[in-house]
Amino acid sequence: MDCIFCQIVAGTVPSYRVYEDEHAIAFLDIAPSCHGHTLVVPLQHAAELDDITAGDLAMTAQATQAVARILRSKLQADGLNVQQNNGAAAGQLVFHYHVHLLPRWSNDGGVSLHRRGETNHAELAELAAFLKS
Ligand code: 5GP
Ligand code: ZN
Repeated sequence: MDCIFCQIVAGTVPSYRVYEDEHAIAFLDIAPSCHGHTLVVPLQHAAELDDITAGDLAMTAQATQAVARILRSKLQADGLNVQQNNGAAAGQLVFHYHVHLLPRWSNDGGVSLHRRGETNHAELAELAAFLKS
């Protein structure tokens, strides 16, 4: 099993989880492009949009809505972007279907997945605990 997100789902690779249900989990991006940058991932492996089953796609969308609500209320975000990349040409780096949630604030200067942030483990741990509380 060489898929990093399958390993995160299985718990053999650590992550800062903020949400889980029967079909999907959400955890903080390790190199966040903005405060609260979160990934929603189906438990079942599928490389990208073309491969995922309709059922998993729907359940991941439900999880995405649940996590978006948590992020917007807990972080008092003014808005939120959803991005989902398919194929290397589209910027996909991890070939296990995932949805990026990017909380936004008025006058935050913009957010781009091309600008990845630093990994600050202490900050990520604190934020994950806050989002789960
Ligand atoms: P993609 O470009 O494939 O849509 O996005 C993959 C995302 O996964 C990137 O934003 C990257 O920072 C994140 N990522 C890659 N490896 C790991 C990891 O091991 N743990 C976490 N939490 N995020 C990861
Ligand atoms: Zn996988």
